[in-house]
Amino acid sequence: MNESGKKTILMADDTPDSLDVLSRLFKGHDIIGAGSRTDCLNVLKEKTVDLMLLDMCMSGMDSCGVCREIKASPVVRDIPVMFIIDRFEGGLIEKAFDAGGADYVVKPFTPKELLSRIHGQIRLREINQELKFVTTRDSLTGIYNRKKFFELGEKMLAHSTEGLYAFIIDIDHFKRINDEYGHQTGDHVLKKITLAISEILPDDALFGRMGGEEFAILFRAGTKDQAVKIADQIHQAVAVSRIAAGSSQIISCSISGGISCSMAETPTLDSLLKKAGQALYRAKDTGRNQSIFRNS
Ligand code: GH3
Ligand code: MG
Ligand code: MG
Repeated sequence: MNESGKKTILMADDTPDSLDVLSRLFKGHDIIGAGSRTDCLNVLKEKTVDLMLLDMCMSGMDSCGVCREIKASPVVRDIPVMFIIDRFEGGLIEKAFDAGGADYVVKPFTPKELLSRIHGQIRLREINQELKFVTTRDSLTGIYNRKKFFELGEKMLAHSTEGLYAFIIDIDHFKRINDEYGHQTGDHVLKKITLAISEILPDDALFGRMGGEEFAILFRAGTKDQAVKIADQIHQAVAVSRIAAGSSQIISCSISGGISCSMAETPTLDSLLKKAGQALYRAKDTGRNQSIFRNS
């Protein structure tokens, strides 16, 4: 869906007026026609599509095959595909579902039936997306929760032979902020700090809230010096965050951190984070507002 709430529907159908009919029914939304498998795949590559209508019997195109291709792609597989079936004919509905179709309409159908089924599928997808978001994100800050961080982190570690760094961060004396300004302001500080860090992280970095005021970042860097530089930038981003508490007060805070690098002796995410955690404790013990790199 785009920002205005407009839906984009990709329609693969070789009946000349189908596109016109759908455009009239679905006024105010984008209806894109496609006449071949290549057309379909190109549109899916270039546009954010909310639903696909696929004519079961198109000349020169194996519609079920196209549906299967879509369902095999991690990028577009969650787009609902609705089949348009010419007539109740043995096995066609089963074929549509077997190929990964979410629903179907059989000709002749009424405009109301088509619209209801389209709306139903789009809503179902939105609910699934919302569900996916809430089960993978931290509800306060919107960054990954611990569970998702571990899931994605394991994958990141499995695909990088070296140069993957873990950075564990803990806000210094956060309890004092809660005690002085209240829990709600504490929440506000957590959100602002998370945002400040998110804005400067490399695009492929993984950022999650481990719990309370502790966060973890996994990122790639060419050298230890580059990794330390990224950690310094994170410290700086937090240090310059001036967080408003009420109408006149400004809160500033600092973080302590521990960094570790994936090596042969840290084959698991657990061991990598454990090392970073040990370095974090040292950073706390030796004065806070600093990060310590754990060499081995
Ligand atoms: P240190 O520098 O040693 O890390 O001290 P600290 O005060 O930051 O650490 P401590 O573990 O003593 O206190 C952490 C506090 O964070 C206590 C807890 O109530 C608060 N906290 C944890 N989660 C949340 C949250 O979601 N919102 C708010 N407002 N506070 C939270
Ligand atoms: Mg703390
Ligand atoms: Mg803590």
